[in-house]
Formats: sequence, C-alpha cells, structure tokens
Amino acid sequence: MGEIAGEYETIVVGAGIMGSCTAYEIAKRGKSVLLLEQYDFLHHRGSSHGESRTIRDAYVEEYYAAMMEEAFSLWEEAQQESGYRVHIKTQQLDIGSVQNRSLQSVIAVCKKLGIPHEVLDAEQASLRFNVLNLPKDWIAVVTNRGGILRASKAVAMFQSLALKNGATLRDNARVTNITSGWKLSDGLDGVQVCTSRGSVLARKCVITAGAWAHKLAKEIADIELPLQPVHATIAYWKIEEGLDNFSAEKGFPTFACYDEPYLYGTPSWEYPGLLKVSLDGGKPCDPDKRSLVPDFDALKKLLSPWLAETFRGHIMSESPVVAEACMCTMSPDEDFIIDFLPLTKTSLSRERSPILIACGFSGHGFKMGPLVGRIMADLALKGEAHGIPMQYFSIERFLKSSRGNIKDYK
Ligand SMILES: Cc1cc2nc3c(=O)[nH]c(=O)nc-3n(C[C@H](O)[C@H](O)[C@H](O)COP(=O)(O)OP(=O)(O)OC[C@H]3O[C@@H](n4cnc5c(N)ncnc54)[C@H](O)[C@@H]3O)c2cc1C
Repeated sequence: MGEIAGEYETIVVGAGIMGSCTAYEIAKRGKSVLLLEQYDFLHHRGSSHGESRTIRDAYVEEYYAAMMEEAFSLWEEAQQESGYRVHIKTQQLDIGSVQNRSLQSVIAVCKKLGIPHEVLDAEQASLRFNVLNLPKDWIAVVTNRGGILRASKAVAMFQSLALKNGATLRDNARVTNITSGWKLSDGLDGVQVCTSRGSVLARKCVITAGAWAHKLAKEIADIELPLQPVHATIAYWKIEEGLDNFSAEKGFPTFACYDEPYLYGTPSWEYPGLLKVSLDGGKPCDPDKRSLVPDFDALKKLLSPWLAETFRGHIMSESPVVAEACMCTMSPDEDFIIDFLPLTKTSLSRERSPILIACGFSGHGFKMGPLVGRIMADLALKGEAHGIPMQYFSIERFLKSSRGNIKDYK
C-alpha cells in the first residue's frame, strides 16, 4: 500500500453509499476527486453493506417524497451507465391502523403530490395479497414505485462509475484530521486531509463518514453533533416450502408497518425461500466498540408472533435463519444533516467553510444516495444545491445557541 499524497479538487471521506455517490458525481463533472475509506471497500462495519434496502416514494414528509422523483431518475441513469441492475422494482405497501397519523400523512402526501396510490381496507388487502391478514381496523396504502435496492452491489456500482469517470479511490486510509488555511499550487485556499497513509491537499473536503461523523466533527471542528449510532439487525425468515407468493417476481411488495411493531421488509429475492423482515431502529452503540453479533432476542420476541398472525402461518421459523448486524445513525428529528461544517477552532463560519458534511441519515438514507451525491457535488463545486429544500437538513438546527443550549429540535 503506497503513501497517499497530491492535490485534488475534492476529497471525500467515507466510501459508503453517500461517499461513493458523491465521488461519482464530482468525477462525472470532470473534477479531480479522491475517495478515502478507513477499512476495505465494501466492508461490513458501517451502514451501506448487505443484500438489500427498500426504495419508495411514499413518505410521511412531503419534502422527502418530492425528492424521490429525482432520486429514482438518478438510480436509473447509474444503472444505464454501468450496465448493473441494482433496483428490483415492486410496489410498496404501507400498513397500520386507520387512525395512525404517519399513515394518514403518507396518504395526504400522495394526494398532494399526485403520487399514484390505493388505500385498501383489511379485506381488500387480503384479496390483493393473499398471504396477508390484517386486523379489521387496519388499512394498506399501495404505491407503485417501490422496490429492492441491492445494497453492496449498488455501492460497488457507484465506486466503479467513479473510477471510470476518473476518480481516485483508496481504502485502508483512515482520516485523522482535516485542517483549513493551506495554499494550493494555484495559490488559492485549500484544506489538508491527514490520513493513516499520508497527507493530501484539496480545495474542498466532503465528510460522508456515517456513524463516525460525530467523532470527526468533534475532532476537526470541535462541534458536538447530536447523532446516535444504533446497532440494527437485518433478519430473514423462512417461508413455507414451495410457496412463491412472497417473491418479487410474483409481485409481492416491499413493505412497512407504521404501528407496533414498527417494522419493514422486502419480498423474497436475494435468498430464495426467505423473507426479509426487520425491526426499525436498534440499541445505541459506539461504532468503534460495538459487537458485530446480530441481536436475535428482540426480533424473536416482537416479530415472531406478528409474522405468524399477519402472514397466515406461512412463516416457518420462530427466529431469523439469516441475520446481519448493521448501523443506523439517528439525528434527533430523523432528518438528514447536509451542510457546510462551521470550523469553530479557526472561527470559520459555515458560509466560508471548505468542509462539507452529510450524515444523520437515520435509517432511511440509502434510497437517496445518488441524490445526496448530486447535492454534495453541487455544494462542493458551486456552493449551493438547486431545487433542494436545504432548510430541513441544516446543521444550524443542532448547534449551540448564543446562550449555550442546544437549540430545540423541530
Ligand atoms: C438495518 C438497516 C436497514 C436500512 N434500511 C434502509 C432502507 O430500507 N432504505 C433506505 O433508504 N435506507 C435504509 N437504511 C439506511 C441506509 O442504509 C443508510 O442511511 C446509509 O447506508 C448511510 O450511508 P453512509 O454512506 O452515510 O454511511 P456508511 O455506509 O457507514 O459509510 C460511511 C463510511 O465512512 C467510513 N469512515 C468513517 N470514518 C472514516 C475516517 N475517519 N476515514 C475514512 N473513512 C471513514 C466508514 O468506514 C464507512 O465506510 C438502513 C440502514 C440499516 C442499518
């Protein structure tokens, strides 16, 4: 492994889905970019690895639903350019009691934005998806644009696209510090990024460090971002032998339950005969100290009875038969943080900072990866991201007020 040196337009720190998409977007625009990853590329210790994530345009919040239009197009474009297929298209099914406010909000957002959808009562839902058995006062919202994203394959796709477009990619290079106030070869201001394999200069630096974003922001800017990494478990359950009603090919949807237990799932695809159903969230953890052992207890206790009831006895295992540990990084309001990083150590305000950060994706960021890449490239190269409601993602909402208190979350 050689020393890392040189000078780039932009350095991207962290090669999960967000960093890989950002490096690709910057390289595609003809600018030099270096993507750095602390572990091996495609490692399993962060948030973007594994077989699948869900994609959908049915969202509780109108601004995310509106952003999905462009996200879907960018996924399509990347697949066209690479020749990879990473989006397995299905419908999306959102279920819960008729009074559930989040579900009612999904319906209102669909109506407002003209997203094609159907609202089914419990009986209609069973007729449509005959393995499904919902309580009488529950409803199902069916939207057309859902599907599985093949997670690790998608990260690999964006890394290979970045490479193809001229990006430099280096793994096993841990970034230890980023400092401003350096002069580049053209005499303009830049940053120095120190890594475990040497130092390198750039005009801008984008931090997409997932669960490590808090540690880096503290080290670089002395900013305490209120991010909480949680240890989540992805779980697969055995389906009755020979039953193909849960398969994506047969039109079984990706799904989410907005009531208790709060869960999500994908149709059978990556492991034939198994259905992915997992609980939302997980236990708080430290990304450098956590155990990588999946947490079976909560899954068994909360999910097993629900699965038996809801899927009419067609789920044959009382515990997951395949499971993998993963991490989500929660922000207090579960909205993303996408902004310039104020450098309090050197009194550089966010408006003048050459360092950007994208983090706090709170368990729902993967589907937005290509769009986050476009936003970060816009911010790094042009200073603003057109057409994006950046106010929802501002770092300011979590910074200390003049009285020294963390501002109220929205
Ligand atoms: C169980 C689970 C289910 C999910 N389901 C969905 C879903 O269905 N749909 C959806 O849209 N989203 C989903 N998500 C969320 C989604 O996966 C994440 O929002 C997304 O993967 C976050 O990507 P990231 O690039 O920010 O973080 P990561 O993938 O963790 O990437 C950050 C990278 O930065 C590297 N890094 C950190 N510090 C340094 C450093 N100092 N130097 C160099 N490199 C560094 C890390 O090693 C890591 O590789 C789910 C998440 C989990 C855990």
